[in-house]
Amino acid sequence: MSRYWSDLVRQLTPYVPGEQPQADRLVKLNTNESPYRPSPAVLTAIAAVSGDSLRLYPDPESMELKQAFAQRNGLLSEQVFIGNGSDEVLAHAFQGLLKHELPVCFPDVTYSFYPVWCELYGVAHRDVPVAQDFSIDPAVYPAANGGIIIPNPNAPTGVLLGLDEIRALLRKSCDSVVVIDEAYIDFGGESAVQLIAEYDNLLVIQTLSKSRALAGLRVGVAMGSVELIEGLERIKNSFNSYPLDILAQRAALASLQDEEYFHQSCRRVIANRERLCREMTALGFDVLPSAANFIFATHPHRAAGDLFAALRQLGIIVRYFDKPRIDNYLRISIGTDAQCDALLAALRDLLADL
Ligand SMILES: *Cc1c(COP(=O)(O)O)cnc(C)c1O
Repeated sequence: MSRYWSDLVRQLTPYVPGEQPQADRLVKLNTNESPYRPSPAVLTAIAAVSGDSLRLYPDPESMELKQAFAQRNGLLSEQVFIGNGSDEVLAHAFQGLLKHELPVCFPDVTYSFYPVWCELYGVAHRDVPVAQDFSIDPAVYPAANGGIIIPNPNAPTGVLLGLDEIRALLRKSCDSVVVIDEAYIDFGGESAVQLIAEYDNLLVIQTLSKSRALAGLRVGVAMGSVELIEGLERIKNSFNSYPLDILAQRAALASLQDEEYFHQSCRRVIANRERLCREMTALGFDVLPSAANFIFATHPHRAAGDLFAALRQLGIIVRYFDKPRIDNYLRISIGTDAQCDALLAALRDLLADL
């Protein structure tokens, strides 16, 4: 606490990101990064950036990248917004599209950054309970709301919502914006982007951090109607008009142009996820059905907090949230074959005396 801080800063409870330990012998399965490298074309694009282009400001609109997203999704470039990681895009959406008289609604078990942005921007929120099995039921969302935001698949559960359910939400909530945060959609879900033509209150947010292995580059995107995108542009141009540096713009474009590599990496992650689910189930875990690059699991005879600490002792880092409803679950990012093997071997040892 400092007397120099504003009242707002005094009151904030900032988000705590998963740790990024420096030691490389650790098996790092805590922040849902890709276990594989990005397409080699990404590194080629970065190496090709000239000193002269670094001397200049980057394109404030990231227009080439916008056009690539637009083309890939059958949209106009005016329907695409690019930001410095989807966290930045989400923050702009909270400030520019979800702040209204009525509270914004999101699941009670969800991405823990949402309430932090609410606090930062003074947005009232209402936590809508997920079902006992962690599924999301559109029927329990109020028709009158300041907006709805849902990750699909949800984080940290990995549970997927179908397009019919998203349609139901959009129809019911036609006077406010529905944001679908698709950080993990490439690992088995169907994107809501195809509904944008039908619903002008739908904003779909995606990131290159997970399925394209570019968490270190910081590129996120929002897609929606021209009016929603213009709202985000107004915030961006009142905050930081050059959110993406030139390396990020070029590298992200190269990633989008290498679809084959992208699909292959996603398939490998999915195959490892299915194996991990099977083998952890065999060890007695209850594993939620996941459409993401992580699994959410609980063991009937071992407290998740204890398993988390014991795994850490063995150099394996997973994520544990000491929060209501989920404090007996571990969230485990899908690693390489070798990382999955190391995790399974450690769990076998830790559970051997049961
Ligand atoms: C990882 C994640 C993000 C943030 O992604 P960045 O693009 O790296 O900022 C957003 N939403 C959810 C649900 C996530 O899990």
